[in-house]
Amino acid sequence: MNEIFQTEEESELEKNLLLRPESFENFIGQNRNIDNLKVFIQAAKMRKQVLDHVLLSGSPGLGKTTLARIIANEMKGELVATSAPALEKTGDLAAVLTGLEKGSILFIDEIHRLRPALEELLYSAMEDFKIDIMIGQGAGAKTVELNLNPFTLIGATTRAGMLSTPLQTRFGIQLRLEFYEPEDLEKILAKKAEVLKIKIAENSKNEISKRSRGTPRILLKLLKRVWDFSMVAGQKEIDIHITRKALERMGIDENGLSLEDKKILEIIVKNYDGGPVGLQTIAISMGESEDGIQDVYEPFLIREGFIKKTPKGRMTTAKAYEYLGYSKNQESLF
Ligand code: ADP
Repeated sequence: MNEIFQTEEESELEKNLLLRPESFENFIGQNRNIDNLKVFIQAAKMRKQVLDHVLLSGSPGLGKTTLARIIANEMKGELVATSAPALEKTGDLAAVLTGLEKGSILFIDEIHRLRPALEELLYSAMEDFKIDIMIGQGAGAKTVELNLNPFTLIGATTRAGMLSTPLQTRFGIQLRLEFYEPEDLEKILAKKAEVLKIKIAENSKNEISKRSRGTPRILLKLLKRVWDFSMVAGQKEIDIHITRKALERMGIDENGLSLEDKKILEIIVKNYDGGPVGLQTIAISMGESEDGIQDVYEPFLIREGFIKKTPKGRMTTAKAYEYLGYSKNQESLF
């Protein structure tokens, strides 16, 4: 729907749709991680210490930023959020670190993309709450040690494996967020719909949850789009009919696969006889970045058993052939 035609009330509703939960109470699923985290937070509070540094890993949209906010709320610390690509020079990071208050929560998104010099600055900051910075230039340059206020670093990454060992080992708490089960997604959807007063049939909730690739962000986006379709059709309630129609119009199939997912499978099957094919080749054929393929599409396709990673590249599985209507030794069945 065109933004120009929205009333103020509608745009407020849209904003709320993607608003993140502020407390554990409204954070659904990831039970084991959450239960452990609650213990670590309680213990830190009992000791009157800052929480140990936390590394959150998992695919985009699984709730890493949301959890960072919740941790900051629970620890009653101010949240300072930045991302590794935004920090170019050591001075940028030093400025952020020296500006932290006692108990601040520093959230660094995409921490696997931190430059080596900045990463090194973090080591002593994390371990001893100290940093060494260079003052002046040339022969007159000298190193000055600065004390920092005790803080908690929360690093978020889509790829924990890409973190250097020295950095990874400095995180006392490491949580890996998993894809959500449809039942949990249904609960998230139900809560959102209730808060936003969106009327939606039970079977529609179920349908959207099943097609959301285990990811809350996708779930909420699909809800928004289905809601658009239902509004434009003049319906007071989102029903299964409009839900299926909207999902079909957006190219999301019953397995939650999008047109892009299908294209990836087709590239490997049709152009490379099922693989193995390198990530770079897939990225070029798709007109996407390698990071995008690796972070957004691949984890779900691997989890659902459509492709597998081998040392020589990506290969499609029998399930992918079947899904596309191809047989490995036969021409297309279409
Ligand atoms: P990430 O930082 O991992 O990319 P976000 O924290 O931005 O993910 O979450 C994406 C969206 O999904 C947010 O709008 C958030 O409200 C919602 N969300 C994520 N996880 C949950 C959860 N467990 N319960 C409720 N909502 C969630």
